[in-house]
Amino acid sequence: MDILEHGLQKMGYTLGDRQREQFEVYSREILDWNRKLNLTTITDYEKMQVVHFLDSLTLAQAAKPGTLENGCRLIDVGTGAGLPGIPLKIVFPSLKVTLLEATAKKTEFLKYLVSVLKLDEIEVVTARAEDQARLGKYREAFDIVTARAVTQLAALAELTLPFCIIGGRCILPKKGDTAREIEEAGKAVETLGGTIAAIQNIDLEGLDDNRHLVVLEKTAPTPDKYPRRSGMPEKRPIK
Ligand code: SAM
Repeated sequence: MDILEHGLQKMGYTLGDRQREQFEVYSREILDWNRKLNLTTITDYEKMQVVHFLDSLTLAQAAKPGTLENGCRLIDVGTGAGLPGIPLKIVFPSLKVTLLEATAKKTEFLKYLVSVLKLDEIEVVTARAEDQARLGKYREAFDIVTARAVTQLAALAELTLPFCIIGGRCILPKKGDTAREIEEAGKAVETLGGTIAAIQNIDLEGLDDNRHLVVLEKTAPTPDKYPRRSGMPEKRPIK
């Protein structure tokens, strides 16, 4: 875990023994389950530390100061193998995390992982965001909403902003040239009660693929009609 620890130090964090062990177990389990599930194309132990773990932890740079350390509620939409939700939970143990994932085989892995990593205050939900965001317990209930590698920003706004409390943030990692994607999402973000507050560049050693965080602030309630039914946000993004 040297690469991870070195990168984390640069961000101002250090790992304790338990956290180091948790990341080691997490890597092993991803590689093990990857033989039957399509969890990731990154199967190199060292690469995983940067491309999955450090990349997930860069989200901390866009969170409101003190929120991650003080038990705020975070939902990770389309979490797949638990990214970025699990690395964040390991480094910030007081976080209350919901891992939301539509594919039951992946949530089976996540439930197993939560038990072997002995994580508490973390729930794994098998559902689509469009359905889950309509439930009272989940709607406008999270201080931080994230979703990595799920879909284009206009659709992503509809899958994330409904979960966010007013005054909270959606922190959405992206890579490559997304200028057009961001421009095209403007109407959707505004319609759903948000503003594009910042685009924060991310510098990760060895990666030159223009990683950045798109930060949406929730400034007004999301109208009741959103999110639309399952599949619609991607099929017909708000324009
Ligand atoms: N976030 C993980 C990562 O960065 O490695 C997984 C990314 S994977 C490419 C996208 C995941 O989002 C898939 O596991 C998929 O099942 C899930 N997903 C896509 N649309 C979803 C939705 N509307 N609600 C819940 N999960 C969704």
